[in-house]
Amino acid sequence: MDSPAADHSPASVRDAFGRPLKSLRLSVTDRCNLRCRYCMPETDYVWLPREDVLSFEEIATLTGYFVDLGVDKVRLTGGEPLLRRDLPRLIRLLSHNRGITEIALTTNGVLLAEQAQELYDAGLHRVTVSLDTLKPDRFRRLTGRDEFSRVLDGIESARAAGFPDLKLDTVAIRGVNEDELVALIEFARHIHAEVRFIEYMDVGGANEWSMDKVLSRDMMLERLSRHYGPITAIPGRGAAPAQRYRVPDGASFGIISSTTTPFCAQCDRSRVTADGLWYLCLYATAGIDLRGPLRMGTGPDHMREVIRRGWVSRQDRGAEARKALEGPGMREAGLIGIERLREDPHLEMHARGG
Ligand code: SAM
Ligand code: SF4
Ligand code: SF4
Repeated sequence: MDSPAADHSPASVRDAFGRPLKSLRLSVTDRCNLRCRYCMPETDYVWLPREDVLSFEEIATLTGYFVDLGVDKVRLTGGEPLLRRDLPRLIRLLSHNRGITEIALTTNGVLLAEQAQELYDAGLHRVTVSLDTLKPDRFRRLTGRDEFSRVLDGIESARAAGFPDLKLDTVAIRGVNEDELVALIEFARHIHAEVRFIEYMDVGGANEWSMDKVLSRDMMLERLSRHYGPITAIPGRGAAPAQRYRVPDGASFGIISSTTTPFCAQCDRSRVTADGLWYLCLYATAGIDLRGPLRMGTGPDHMREVIRRGWVSRQDRGAEARKALEGPGMREAGLIGIERLREDPHLEMHARGG
């Protein structure tokens, strides 16, 4: 039975290191229409069984429990979230929850042009489009698909629909797109957006990540300051994964340096997969099953207690633990083998949402 006196006070839920439960990433599908080399390099994947994928009502109900415990920001991701049919309906359902102050979306942009206005009208607040290159040929090689112009159309449509603070996310990889940092900053400035460079992360294992492919934050800053002059960090980062910077002529950009300078100490993020497993960290090897109890008809109090207990015992600092693996080849050895990835598709970035 639900007791009205139950303590759902958001301020009360902190993990083992005092980090609050705040930001929730909801992966709405593990499927994708691109095959980015650093994320889904394989041609074949084991997909989550369709019957396990949560309905929009189930996602909204679960999210409500998280909001009762402190979550106020929700980001829809995947896989490619715009492949999920009628995503605006989920956004409308989430918008009814007054505890959610921000609903955001991370997309590869391929299907954005046709959906941007409807997403905005449904109540989506922010959009981040992943864009690793401005060169169509390179885009094709990097993603395995010839969709560059549709992504640009998607970005333009998002602007036209009225989304504020449009962001572009670029995974910066040595020997792949390291020559485009300035071009991406200038492109973003031109369209009144902001680019965030993400260090290549060793999540999953199929992508054959190695440390020598990582373009570190320090390398990026060094290259950019050679072009722009002195770069200054913009204060007031809070729990945001990106540190923002400004160049002398006023342009700004961000860097998410999870690989070389992790930010776990402030991390308030967790992830729910499309089939309802809750991961307390991007690097966690196991998730907490929320679909099972939800579908068994477990009451709200008990569901909130499962979540509360999970968060209170959270000790994850995945990126810091990876960083501590010093020595040649040590981090590479932490990658998960293909056989294990096939046995458990949740271990891949595209299943847990980046
Ligand atoms: N498909 C959508 C997209 O690409 O925006 C949403 C899901 S994708 C997994 C979310 C983000 O994770 C993207 O910005 C992607 O570039 C990033 N990502 C995927 N694999 C990564 C890796 N190995 N290292 C760093 N970022 C990665
Ligand atoms: Fe798909 Fe996004 Fe992964 Fe690229 S990064 S393969 S678009 S899920
Ligand atoms: Fe948070 Fe885990 Fe990423 Fe660290 S590695 S910032 S704890 S999700």
